[in-house]
Amino acid sequence: MSDHHPERREESEESDVVQVVWDQAFTGYDFGRWHPMAPVRLDLTARLCEQLGLFERPGVRVVGAEPADDELLATVHDRAYVEAVKAASADPRQAQAVFGLGTEDDPAFPGMHEAAARIVGGSVDLGRALVAGRAQHGVNFCGGMHHAKPGCASGFCVYNDAAAAIVAMLRDGAERIVYVDLDCHHGDGTEAVFWDDPRVLTVSVHESGTTLFPGTGFADELGGPRALGGAVNLALPARTGDAGWLRAVHAVVPQLVRSFAPDVLVTQHGCDTHALDPLGHLQVSVDAQRVAAASMHALAHEAAAGRWLALGGGGYEVVDVVPRTWAHLVAEASQQPLDPSTPLPAAWREHVRATFGRDAPSAMTDGEPATFAGWESGYDPDDAVDRAILATRRAAFPLHGLDPDFD
Ligand SMILES: [Zn+2]
Ligand SMILES: [Zn+2]
Repeated sequence: MSDHHPERREESEESDVVQVVWDQAFTGYDFGRWHPMAPVRLDLTARLCEQLGLFERPGVRVVGAEPADDELLATVHDRAYVEAVKAASADPRQAQAVFGLGTEDDPAFPGMHEAAARIVGGSVDLGRALVAGRAQHGVNFCGGMHHAKPGCASGFCVYNDAAAAIVAMLRDGAERIVYVDLDCHHGDGTEAVFWDDPRVLTVSVHESGTTLFPGTGFADELGGPRALGGAVNLALPARTGDAGWLRAVHAVVPQLVRSFAPDVLVTQHGCDTHALDPLGHLQVSVDAQRVAAASMHALAHEAAAGRWLALGGGGYEVVDVVPRTWAHLVAEASQQPLDPSTPLPAAWREHVRATFGRDAPSAMTDGEPATFAGWESGYDPDDAVDRAILATRRAAFPLHGLDPDFD
């Protein structure tokens, strides 16, 4: 819409509100005591945001959300699947594995439908607020359920809030949207929804499927015939650290976003890329995740008229990693990034000690410089990260009129 209706872009810039989704009800998304997706990760994140004063900042509007209704869920999901989730939600013994329910990754629990639909409601509300000009940035750290597919649950994800928000924005008048997925895992569900849709470019930078679930997301997976190049994947070797991860993100994402010129930038900030994460095998720090969030924010202003929808995602180190990474994300979106040396509030650390019997980190940093060499400085064909980056640039860049070696 931006290129074709410049007057609407002007209107949309009137609001600089940053809308953040939070309500204690989101902790109802609970697969049970032994599951890695523990709702306390959201509770600790919200407590940290509150105690850092982020929710009280000028321009920040904290909103809850109602569960998405069946019509809204049906914009992404098969009705038979939604019915199966409802049945499993009412009686977990009814869970059907054919829909991915009642499995080890996605065990059924009472209230599962409402809890998952609430996440969709939150992200869709944010997306619609951005397109209507009621907010400039939106953050839903409870969202980013990127593995959920139209017809099944997968990888701890029941309903795909990212995809539903994108569909809602397209229906409201957005014409082009870029979705950038920075989770440790390939963003396969969101990619699948828009696989053959030329209006949506999905870019996923993740640990290679050779070593991590879901086993997909290689450079040659590029989208369907109507939208070739509309899916871009960068598969990084296990153990990639800050310098390689940031170099990879910056060697593909800004170029593609600028070239695609979206009306809205949607980003997924799964923080299971962290070295301490129990599931992934990348070695990224909170500092590098903060730098990546700042880059996505700047890119939204540069290439998407400032419309930025930032979502959470994976992240299973619930004390040391998730709360700090997503508090940084909220701070970044509220136009005032936190200094990495900011101490963690004493009350938050005491809560962690009382709840988990362990020490929390003392500051908002891992002490890492989070610096990297840009692709323009040249590349090393013997380096595994550079080979992965080059494979993606060679496969995808020509489909966007970009030069794999020089852009
Ligand atoms: Zn993940
Ligand atoms: Zn901004």
